[in-house]
Amino acid sequence: MSSTSFEIADEVQEFAERIIDQHHPHLQDAKDKVGYFFKYGSSDWAGKCKKCTAFEREITGKMFLIFVNKDAWSHMDLTQREALVDHELCHIKRASSPRIDSTTNEVIQDWAIADEPESWSTRDHDIEEFSDVVNRHGLWEKGIEKFAVAVRNAPYQMDFEELEKQRKLKVAN
Ligand SMILES: [Zn+2]
Repeated sequence: MSSTSFEIADEVQEFAERIIDQHHPHLQDAKDKVGYFFKYGSSDWAGKCKKCTAFEREITGKMFLIFVNKDAWSHMDLTQREALVDHELCHIKRASSPRIDSTTNEVIQDWAIADEPESWSTRDHDIEEFSDVVNRHGLWEKGIEKFAVAVRNAPYQMDFEELEKQRKLKVAN
């Protein structure tokens, strides 16, 4: 069993900053508030995002830490890596106050001050469910329906029948 260790993950940071530019405007001026680390050693997750404790903030100067399991990362292709990093960034929530721009009439988000820990919180997943329950009972809750709509709209569609066929082939092998 390999022991646990950590390493600064510049590679993950590069992914993250690209994704922030595209999809996370609340982090645009706060890129330096997130620290990225590879975790070596076994874990039952591929990625993790946590808000820093006061002590962690003190020693890292960050508001959030994102950990990526190195073994999982090395088995992922480019799109999977992007999805994982995007997922972890989605856990970061920043307080804001909307206001209407008087000239354009557009709603503008004024993000809370990046240096204040109270400006930040973590966001839970839109959906928490066991795949067994979905298999047995379908989309029984509103949150799951919302999630299903997002899945249907996603660019890549997993073909369930194709997946079953592959699974059976694997079993047959
Ligand atoms: Zn998550």
